[in-house]
Amino acid sequence: MTIKENCLKIKKEIPDHVRVVLAAKLKTAEEISEAISVGAEIVGENYVQEAEKMYETLGEQAKKVKWHMIGPLQKNKINKALKVFDCIETIDSVELAEAVNKRAEVIKREVPVFIEINIGSEITKSGVKPEYEIIEKLAKGISGLDYLKLEGLMTVGPRVGDPEEVRPYFRKTKEIFDKLRNTGIPNVDLKYLSMGMSNSYKIAIEEGANLVRLGTVIFGERRCDLAS
Ligand SMILES: *Cc1c(COP(=O)(O)O)cnc(C)c1O
Repeated sequence: MTIKENCLKIKKEIPDHVRVVLAAKLKTAEEISEAISVGAEIVGENYVQEAEKMYETLGEQAKKVKWHMIGPLQKNKINKALKVFDCIETIDSVELAEAVNKRAEVIKREVPVFIEINIGSEITKSGVKPEYEIIEKLAKGISGLDYLKLEGLMTVGPRVGDPEEVRPYFRKTKEIFDKLRNTGIPNVDLKYLSMGMSNSYKIAIEEGANLVRLGTVIFGERRCDLAS
C-alpha cells in the first residue's frame, strides 16, 4: 500500500469528528508531502529541529497544514518552536507553561496548548502524573496565562503487546478530560483529546479520542524508533 492509499483507507475508517496528526518522526519531506497531498491536515513533530527542517523543505505546502509539537519541549527551544508549531501538545508543568507564555507574549501570539498526562505513571515517559488534583492545578495555572489557551489533553499511554490492555488508560484519560471540562475553568476550552497511535487508535477512538497520532499505519515501519 502507498502512503496515499493508507491515508484514504484511514480516513474512511475513522469517524468524521476524529482528526489525524501525522507522526512525522524519521520521515522524509516526500513522504509527508504525499500525505498532505491527499488531505492530511496536521503534522506532528517530536523535535523542534526536525520540525524546522521539515517546514522549510515543504515550502508552500507547510503553510497548508497545522503543526503540533508531540514530543517533550525543552525550554531553550521555545522560541524556535513557536516559529513552527501552531499547538504544543506536551505541556507538563506550570514552569514550562510560564516559559512558553513569556515567549508568546513577546511575539503577541496566542498559543493553543494541551496538557500531556503520563497516564501509566511510567518513569520513562514525560507528562503530568495522572492525579486529577495535579492536573486541575496545572490547568488553572495555564488559565491565568494571557497568551496560552488550554484546548486539550494528550497522552501516549503504556506500550503494550495487546492494544486492549491500553483501553483502561484511555478510559481514565477521558474521565479526567470530562471532569476537567465540567469544572469550567475560565479561559480554558477543552476540545481535543489526543490519544491513540497506530496499534491503538481504534480503541482510543472508542474511548473518546478525537485526535489520533499516526505514523506506522500511514508510512510503514520506522527503521528505528527514537521516541519509544
Ligand atoms: C511516534 C509517535 C506516534 C506515532 O506512533 P506510531 O506507532 O508509528 O503510529 C504518536 N505519538 C507520539 C508522541 C509519537 O512519538
